Amino acid sequence: MPASPSPAPADDAYLDPHIETMPPETLARLQEQRVLGLIGKAYERAPLIRTAWDAAGVHPSQIRSLADYFAKAPFIDKDAIRRHRDAHLDPVGGLQICDDGVLDRIGFTSGTTGDPTAVPQGRVSPLDMQLCRDFWQIGARPGDFMAEMMFTFRGGQTSLACFDKIGLTPIGMAHSPAEIPFLVEISKQFRPTLLFMLSSPMIIGLEKYFEETGTDPRDVFASYKGAVFGGEPLSPRFKALVASWGMELFEFTTCGDVIGAMECHMHDGMHAWGDLVLIENLDDNNNPVPDGEIGELVVTALADPWAPLIRFRTEDLVRVERSRCGCGRTHPRFWPLGRKGDETLVQGKSVLPRDIQRIVEQHAETRTCLFQIIRPQREMEILRLRIGYDSTKLASTAEELSSRLIAVLAEGLSVPVHVELVLYEELLKLGPPQKIPRVTKQ
Ligand SMILES: [Zn+2]
Repeated sequence: MPASPSPAPADDAYLDPHIETMPPETLARLQEQRVLGLIGKAYERAPLIRTAWDAAGVHPSQIRSLADYFAKAPFIDKDAIRRHRDAHLDPVGGLQICDDGVLDRIGFTSGTTGDPTAVPQGRVSPLDMQLCRDFWQIGARPGDFMAEMMFTFRGGQTSLACFDKIGLTPIGMAHSPAEIPFLVEISKQFRPTLLFMLSSPMIIGLEKYFEETGTDPRDVFASYKGAVFGGEPLSPRFKALVASWGMELFEFTTCGDVIGAMECHMHDGMHAWGDLVLIENLDDNNNPVPDGEIGELVVTALADPWAPLIRFRTEDLVRVERSRCGCGRTHPRFWPLGRKGDETLVQGKSVLPRDIQRIVEQHAETRTCLFQIIRPQREMEILRLRIGYDSTKLASTAEELSSRLIAVLAEGLSVPVHVELVLYEELLKLGPPQKIPRVTKQ
């Protein structure tokens, strides 16, 4: 949470005020209109959608309202896309509805839980529209510079159209701790407004850099109105650390690969733009979950004339809130809680990586918060963790650290815990640079 409540929105607080503050009833009508306009075309042109709807015995002509859609439309998931892609040698998984030759670029999902799938996009994609609104609310304005170090969507996420719309000039660099001296240099020279984006490894790298060089982070980041953080849930320690550098962090997550979703200055959930994506929060029996309770995020792309996802099960566990945000925006917000597949049941009790994160990061030796749940199956009798530690920060011995972690984890999670300690450099080698798999079979 920010130290003090955000001030009332200024006149130019919204990039698209008529959309961002649209009354919920108007937004629902717009969503219905877009869904009804979409499904016929998708059924005609997207082989995966036609297959799914035929298998469910549903035809778009039977859907005349959002209520019909929620009651009858079949789901698709990432496995269905992969299966169609591999069986039909169709690189975009049977989702394309546009003519060939109109795609602007092909992005890819980050591939955290399997091989990445394609995200085809045209010019001024919904992702661009989402990013523009969210960059604007952070405070980016025409003529500003943006330090851009992307790691996800593999280059498919931002486009020149995005920068044209709000007049931002990006300064690109790799998403790697090795680029930190360059980031520091360009921050002093160009004084950017926005940093897009930080991840846990980048924050660890910056902390180390500032400690070793004596550079004043408040001077480096003096011009920034905010930095976007993504890759995994933001830990309380990292949030406080970056705040101590004078930088406000805005958490970013994907909204089922349709668009991204980002916090506003209220830091009260991720805004999911309802004109671009229809979100549902469903239980295992496909029933809607009331606001405030945990369910699975299901998304339908509403402004994607290229390859829209239609009732796509994201496997992301979320809480959703549909009341107006303190920032004045009326669209739904959600809180990502973890991947459905990452949930482990230890003696029947649910444990998610973020529950472990809060405890592990409080110890100097493990403050980088690199750990894995070792789990051959979802239900376990004991929680087995592999935790990376920094040998230069050991207060006593590795054995003492192990005993200490086991004690605090068992108390904090109320389940029995086994800990395997490894040097964090070794653990980092197990994954892509921005994150390691939080759950592993061995
Ligand atoms: Zn808000």
